[in-house]
Amino acid sequence: MELPKKRRCPFCTKRFRPDPRQGSRQRVCSGEDCQRKRRAKTQASWRARNPDYPASSQLKKRSAQADAAEAGQRDQATGEPICQPDPLPVPQALEMIPWSLAQEEIGVRAADFLALVATCLANRQKTREVPKSLCSSALTGQERAPP
Ligand SMILES: [Zn+2]
Repeated sequence: MELPKKRRCPFCTKRFRPDPRQGSRQRVCSGEDCQRKRRAKTQASWRARNPDYPASSQLKKRSAQADAAEAGQRDQATGEPICQPDPLPVPQALEMIPWSLAQEEIGVRAADFLALVATCLANRQKTREVPKSLCSSALTGQERAPP
């Protein structure tokens, strides 16, 4: 079997021969520092492509907790019964909504989704106040003047 051709590592710029098992797929030398940088770059790229991951991961955990509570499961470490998760924290403007009641009535998954959507809208309103003139011109279909 022919050895893969030497390449230049984009991080340390040294030439290296890829591992024959990886061949042309290996783009970075096996140096510890370069591998750490490669993983960091891969993870940053993944996070950039999946910006909603922290939210969806948290929602999945809460959903699993709600299922466990409903099934009457107990915490494996403490033996305590698993409770429904507390409602998601929301911005102050949304605290008047009875989120605990929403969880009881429509379930944790639906209440979480509503809280997430409402929080996104509330944050959007906070950071990007839309002037009333834009809203009314949007309603009447008038073109807005260029900035
Ligand atoms: Zn390197």
